[in-house]
Amino acid sequence: MSFNSLGLSDALLKAISKKGYSTPSPIQQKAIPPILEGKDVLASAQTGTGKTAGFTLPILQLLSQGQHLSRRPIRALILTPTRELAAQILANIKEYSAFLDLRSTVIFGGVNQNPQVTQLRQGVDILVATPGRLIDLQNQGLISLAKVEILVLDEADRMLDMGFVRDIERIIKVLPSKRQNLMFSATFSKDIKKLAMGILHNPVHVEATPENTTVDAIIQKVYPVAKEKKTELIIKLITEGNWKQILVFTRTKQGANKLTESMISAGIKAAAIHGNKGQGARTKALAGFKDGSLTALVATDIAARGLDIPLLPHVVNFELPNIPEDYVHRIGRTGRAGASGEAISLFSPDETVFLRDIEKLVGLKLPVENIKGFEPDPNASKEPIKQGQGRQQRDSTPRKPKTDTTNRSSNNSFGPRRPSQNNDRRSNR
Ligand code: AMP
Repeated sequence: MSFNSLGLSDALLKAISKKGYSTPSPIQQKAIPPILEGKDVLASAQTGTGKTAGFTLPILQLLSQGQHLSRRPIRALILTPTRELAAQILANIKEYSAFLDLRSTVIFGGVNQNPQVTQLRQGVDILVATPGRLIDLQNQGLISLAKVEILVLDEADRMLDMGFVRDIERIIKVLPSKRQNLMFSATFSKDIKKLAMGILHNPVHVEATPENTTVDAIIQKVYPVAKEKKTELIIKLITEGNWKQILVFTRTKQGANKLTESMISAGIKAAAIHGNKGQGARTKALAGFKDGSLTALVATDIAARGLDIPLLPHVVNFELPNIPEDYVHRIGRTGRAGASGEAISLFSPDETVFLRDIEKLVGLKLPVENIKGFEPDPNASKEPIKQGQGRQQRDSTPRKPKTDTTNRSSNNSFGPRRPSQNNDRRSNR
């Protein structure tokens, strides 16, 4: 199938070809036609499947065909959980709309609102936003959503996990009731389905990869290792393997900082990216990682959402995630858009329960390889280390005020999903 056959306009085809895409990805093939028909769409697609173009291209087409109003009210609103993802989506929109007369901008928290307000005053057709900043500006009377024709909820599962459900509900209340709704999510819990039912009307369901399965192009390996030897092992893997670009996941912000320091001491160019880092530091770290001046980016799950790093060769779980769905998100950072990649998990005995949960979710027994000299003590406890014990100390940093739009890993107030488990498990990232 070609992009031509999807019914996209010449201006969009020109932009797609400039981007170097030759064939639409499966999610694009499935999502673009019903969106162009004006239908609501519920899409199951993880990062790396080309989902952004899957909703952006048809939206651009619909808006460019629609009536041009001289004051340019916001006609498409795209909600995303993180700043990085919001910025990434805007960058894509700008590229795809290069040959169209459409204006777009992004708003998110953690930065001065004035430049964002100036942009909004000049009129924009498409707004990408994180929920908190959007509500902030709306409360100040600086934004009108009365003319929104299309609403996109991107990474809806993560928005729920980050506690944005009330914000989403508030935003929906101020939108016109007649509109097209598109929801993208990597995983489909009961909560997501419930949220979808409240927002979408007779949605067309599309799926890129089956729910909670991992991409075949990714080689997955588990290295059993004594907990205290993980740092030494990862440094050995990077230096001896001569790895050039590696994304490493830790469970906590302190864990990310500590590992980054050890890597730097070992001569590896590394930076940490997590919720306690300011926007400037996050942007700088990501840019350094993309341009190759940094070898390793050490991230927590929430901070890593929305990072678009094409063709990432290595992802390492320094610690296994305690939320099994996060494993799927993490390793989705490699093997992107058809390229192959390697996802390695350093697994210590106290993570036995996490590994079991992950294997249950993905329906695979992950291949195990032992590395001589790093094997854990066969008698080591398999009990998870509780928070407040051992190295995983609870974060003592004060919580950010409610108006900060990002990295709110707090209560998910939506429905009864895994009641205390998720909130406890996520409390430190
Ligand atoms: P996404 O899942 O939207 O984050 O996209 C993942 C990556 O795939 C991005 O780097 C896109 O630029 C790239 N991409 C999107 N669509 C295509 C396509 N049809 N062909 C090749 N690469 C694509």
